[in-house]
Amino acid sequence: MKHTTQGWWLEEAGARDSLPSLGRHIDCDLAILGGGFTGLWTAWQVSKREPSMKVVVVERDRCGHGPSGRNGGFVMSLWPSLENMAQRFGAGRAIETARASADSVDEIGEFCADHDLDAWFHKGGYMMVSASPAQDAVWQSEVAACHEYGVPEVARELEPGEVAERCRSPLFRGGAYFPDSATVQPGRLALGLRSIIAGLPNVEVFESSPVRSVETGPWGCRIEAGSGSVSSKSAVLAMGGVMAGSRSPLKGRLTVASSHIALTEPVPDLIEEIGWTGGESITDGRRLVNYFRTTEDGRIAFGWGGGEIACGGRIEGRAEIDREVIDQVIANLLRTFPGLAGRQITHAWGGPIDASPTHLPSIVQLGSDPVYAAFGYTGNGVGPSHLAGKVLASLVLEVSDELTRLPLVNPEPQRVPGGLAGWIGGSVIRNAMVRREAAEDAGQSPASVDRLVSEVPELIGFHIGR
Ligand SMILES: Cc1cc2nc3c(=O)[nH]c(=O)nc-3n(C[C@H](O)[C@H](O)[C@H](O)COP(=O)(O)OP(=O)(O)OC[C@H]3O[C@@H](n4cnc5c(N)ncnc54)[C@H](O)[C@@H]3O)c2cc1C
Repeated sequence: MKHTTQGWWLEEAGARDSLPSLGRHIDCDLAILGGGFTGLWTAWQVSKREPSMKVVVVERDRCGHGPSGRNGGFVMSLWPSLENMAQRFGAGRAIETARASADSVDEIGEFCADHDLDAWFHKGGYMMVSASPAQDAVWQSEVAACHEYGVPEVARELEPGEVAERCRSPLFRGGAYFPDSATVQPGRLALGLRSIIAGLPNVEVFESSPVRSVETGPWGCRIEAGSGSVSSKSAVLAMGGVMAGSRSPLKGRLTVASSHIALTEPVPDLIEEIGWTGGESITDGRRLVNYFRTTEDGRIAFGWGGGEIACGGRIEGRAEIDREVIDQVIANLLRTFPGLAGRQITHAWGGPIDASPTHLPSIVQLGSDPVYAAFGYTGNGVGPSHLAGKVLASLVLEVSDELTRLPLVNPEPQRVPGGLAGWIGGSVIRNAMVRREAAEDAGQSPASVDRLVSEVPELIGFHIGR
């Protein structure tokens, strides 16, 4: 098994030449800090809407080599979060937001088709399943909300037999199906998008150019990066989990968890045998969720959201490579699909998750300066980062429209405990959840202390998992 930081998707997508690093001073209209999906979609949207604007993207490493190029490739809408959003924003605004996110899923597919970008976009829907009695009906309130608010077509409860028709596992019980969801090969999407953006006449992309300092004011933004600097009239911070760090203006708005994926060798015979031929993305109903999907060449990619909590904005180390966690991922994979016994696990990797207490992304302006940021995707950023790119473009262009009025824009800040105390507390809770869910999987009653501690996030208003 090849256990790396960057994983199989980027390897499969093929090596690309590195883009130049920043070695001079540049004046521009918009500086985008970070070349993941958020930064790249923003560059695309701004460039499409205002081709005369000079845009500079500054990336620490290589664009798309962070979580954007190595995630599970689930391209989700926010329909499975409808109830969560309705409680916070009201049903009408929640529906508008979920609709906008579903549009983004389709627009990613259209973008790939329009640009001949073969990112394996496939709209096979998303299925949430129960894999133990403790997970039964975890989807019920979300499905009920979709029906109650007049959008029954976006979510459907499935009987155990209907789940088995889509994918058979000895663990699966009932489930729910959300059709407005797709999958991609995220490495191909990220690198394809990078090439398209780098080819735009009004955009310059610099790689291997870590941003070292950011100074903002009503006049815009000045950054020092690589061995150069950029002065811009506006800026977008799109640096993912590092924005949880102690020197970040977003400190206290997000925490960094981690997630890890194991990939099988091609097993098309097994996929056929279990009837999983529709390309559905699937999660179980745990809080520390197991998520899985097939690939175009007949592999199963299986991830677990139970990696260690990172300290502050540290997105490296065990957030990326953690043998213990991968062993657990593989155990979860084999429990779910015992037919894989004897088949090879060829690759494993992991990465940081920028988690927000609401489980929803936020798109914000920093004070009154023309500086904006999107963060807190909480493991669901592939689809929503496209929406964030559209919103950020409107904000940068100072256009007030239905996008900038979405409730994800400048929401009431919700704080998370930070620093060492936050990390220690988060780790204690994560460990209690791991033990609790292991007991539930084994059909045992969890220790009361683990049950109690794992409820703490919900008690303090931190929405975990599903
Ligand atoms: C293992 C894993 C599985 C996941 N599975 C899914 C999934 O199936 N579906 C889904 O929707 N989401 C998933 N996610 C989450 C998803 O990958 C993210 O939400 C999304 O990629 C966020 O994109 P981003 O552009 O905001 O951040 P990132 O992809 O983190 O990009 C930020 C960029 O900023 C750069 N940067 C950081 N610091 C600096 C600096 N100082 N100077 C310059 N550049 C800097 C980084 O190098 C990086 O390229 C998963 C994440 C992981 C780790």
